[in-house]
Amino acid sequence: MATKELSTFDAFRQARLYDVGFIVITDAARPPIVHKLNGPCISAEKFKTKVMLGESSTGKYYLVDSVAGALSEFRASACKLCKPQRPDKEIWKSQLR
Ligand SMILES: [Zn+2]
Repeated sequence: MATKELSTFDAFRQARLYDVGFIVITDAARPPIVHKLNGPCISAEKFKTKVMLGESSTGKYYLVDSVAGALSEFRASACKLCKPQRPDKEIWKSQLR
């Protein structure tokens, strides 16, 4: 699995622009969690607070290329809010228009 630490705001911004992969957020207080790269859990504000103001002392952001890899390598759990294992495009929604 390819893993890249997102240690600068620029790296974070680029990753979201490319929109390929997933984000693992580690936390000193609880197990790491895998999120969708552009899911509702990921925000520039949170990144700035944790990585820049907190100087990564409470946790880090990693860009990974697979959910399965993150689950095994980071011993992460999948986020229950943005559900990274589900595909982004839900066909039934686009058919409702
Ligand atoms: Zn999430």
